[in-house]
Amino acid sequence: MEDESAKYARQRREMVQRQIRARGITDPKVLEAMAAVPRHLFVGEALVDQAYGDFPLPIGEQQTISQPYIVAEMTQALALSEEDRVLEIGTGSGYQAAVLAQIAYRVYTVERVHSLYMKTRRLFDRLKYHNIVTRYADGTEGWKEEGPFDAIIVTAGAPAVPEPLISQLGPAGRMVIPVGDRYSQELVKLYRDEHGINRSTLGGCRFVKLVGEHGWKAEEN
Ligand code: SAH
Repeated sequence: MEDESAKYARQRREMVQRQIRARGITDPKVLEAMAAVPRHLFVGEALVDQAYGDFPLPIGEQQTISQPYIVAEMTQALALSEEDRVLEIGTGSGYQAAVLAQIAYRVYTVERVHSLYMKTRRLFDRLKYHNIVTRYADGTEGWKEEGPFDAIIVTAGAPAVPEPLISQLGPAGRMVIPVGDRYSQELVKLYRDEHGINRSTLGGCRFVKLVGEHGWKAEEN
């Protein structure tokens, strides 16, 4: 009989083929990372058997772990190399951070909900993700002491790109962030070159709200 870890490894390979590769994700580093990270360990016990499905899932505190394809699309857009230092805003379950950590040198991830911060921090320890650094704070301020970053990813929807994040984006830095209203957003990609910031869009998406000083105000929830 197939053991548990073999079962989930098979589900992951199928996820990569049918959801990720089939929809045009080609970066081998991204495909490998998605095939490696045990997504079922980043969701609650009751949802383990749905972990590799083609949809987001609830992770408590009214937050969600993104659909696998969105994680792959945003990761590919960052064009990461193994020397890169990446800032993530919205740690949540930790799954996106783990995918980034598989490729990049170090991941700095910020979460504003204390219970999620604590829970995910413990999970990173248990799974031995030693190149992920966590912080409990309002991520719309970025992480000034550790910046500038080669890449920045925001995994909650913002009304506009927070100014502190733009200023913490280093030379040739890439940022992906969902921007829009509370119901739907567009994935925006920013790229800094010698002339300044270039902006393009990747398509529609739907994220929970980025709440903070340079995001949505808490009372608008
Ligand atoms: N990357 C996560 C997605 C979690 S959902 C994953 O892979 O599971 C978005 C997360 O952003 C939530 O946990 C929410 O609490 C957090 N968030 C919202 N506003 C934030 C802010 N200003 N700073 C840090 N985290 C924030």
